[in-house]
Amino acid sequence: MRRDNKLIFEKGAKGRIGYTFPDENIPNYRIEEMIPQEQIREIPPELPECNEVEVVRHFTNLSKLNHSIDNGFYPLGSCTMKYNPKINETVAMISGFVNLHPYQPESTFQGALELMYFLQQALAEISGMDEVTLQPAAGAHGELTGMSLIRAYHDDRGDIKRNTVIVPDSAHGTNPATAAMCGYKVKEVESNENGRVNLKVLKKMLNNDIAAIMLTNPNTLGLFEDDILEIQKLAHENGTLLYYDGANMNAIMGKIRPGDMGFDVLHYNLHKTFSTPHGMGGPGSGAVGVKSKLAPYLPVPHVKKDEERFYLDYDIPKSIGKIRGYYGNFNVLIRAAAYILTMGADGLRSASEIAVLNANYLRNKIIKRFKIPFGKQCMHEFVADGSLLKKYGLKTLDFAKALLDYGIHPPTVYFPLIVHEAMMIEPTETESKETLDHFVEIVDKILEQAQSDPDKLKEVPYTTPVRRLDELKANKDLNVRYQK
Ligand SMILES: *Cc1c(COP(=O)(O)O)cnc(C)c1O
Repeated sequence: MRRDNKLIFEKGAKGRIGYTFPDENIPNYRIEEMIPQEQIREIPPELPECNEVEVVRHFTNLSKLNHSIDNGFYPLGSCTMKYNPKINETVAMISGFVNLHPYQPESTFQGALELMYFLQQALAEISGMDEVTLQPAAGAHGELTGMSLIRAYHDDRGDIKRNTVIVPDSAHGTNPATAAMCGYKVKEVESNENGRVNLKVLKKMLNNDIAAIMLTNPNTLGLFEDDILEIQKLAHENGTLLYYDGANMNAIMGKIRPGDMGFDVLHYNLHKTFSTPHGMGGPGSGAVGVKSKLAPYLPVPHVKKDEERFYLDYDIPKSIGKIRGYYGNFNVLIRAAAYILTMGADGLRSASEIAVLNANYLRNKIIKRFKIPFGKQCMHEFVADGSLLKKYGLKTLDFAKALLDYGIHPPTVYFPLIVHEAMMIEPTETESKETLDHFVEIVDKILEQAQSDPDKLKEVPYTTPVRRLDELKANKDLNVRYQK
């Protein structure tokens, strides 16, 4: 690929123009008429002056720098990088949706409210919950909402002694972080030798301090928590609520419902399970579903319907308040609704069935190459152990980076923490057998190379726009501002 590394600010030349403004003489198109006088700049901003083709090339080339689900396999465990059907985009571009303004009178956006109402109902049905809010903007934000609801529930009952939340040692980092942000102490429950919550240990941990247990099922090892009914019984007998991290819903749609497993509150990752584009920080949607006992605390406004119309209900006296501006990431909600409608109940069920089938197909190939420490089969993902690379002086990280040179996104690595050199592989239902077989061929090529030329693997990737990055610096010292 030929690449031009210039930033847009360094492109173009003085006086070059790529856009024609409407004729000054057309009424209502005069800048002075469109923009209030006091908001018009006196000094023009320092913007690049480019012609149209320069701008098109610049952004087209930028769009090719990153790996994406539209250009290759993306088995990033836990993140559910499934293909996002283009019909969702078509629906999201309907002008009636695109041109909505959040301050329009309610009577003029009944269609949007109907869509949100439909989505709330569909999600409640899929998860076995009673009510759903669409406000949270991401999974982690949904967790914050859900845990705030749990806190409001306990407080409202005067049960204020509960100050601790239990999370398994296999939990996603957002779980303990959320509990801590809600002011709870976090206690970790260990997994047993089968990769499930250790029931004996959990039993001992339960006391009147425990506000909630946060779980995902299947858990982050891709294994079903067989003791879930026992866990929910113990929790509820103890007055403890059960939180479901819905990131793994892709494994269970139409098969089993968190509500029926006894969970009281959950978040959905609409951008994962319900197939809206994600990555790079958003926009996403972490809608939250609750059992009716938590409904009085839901954020305002909540979309409701009476005999004649849909409306935004702000009259929820015990509400935890607003969680986000306006009504959630509406453009993501449109895509999720379009996905659910085009798939239908049967389609969603078969998506989960194929996701689990694909993961097991791949698992049976990978286990001949890498150790898979937990489970005999998996749900929608599995976690392999890359320790065998050590004998070549290599790590899981080297293996993951090597995949990039073959146009494959690496799996999630070094998570969950309870597997050494973890590689968490989630193929999703949208990949063909050929793609999965191709992946295995590439795995074999890299393993051969590990034997024959390990030093070369320490330097991979060679073909990507950037090589190995200082991930720590990117995290701790992020600076995305352009300076001349
Ligand atoms: C992705 C994920 C989250 C967080 O969701 P975001 O939308 O990224 O905030 C939480 N838990 C698990 C298990 C996840 O995979």
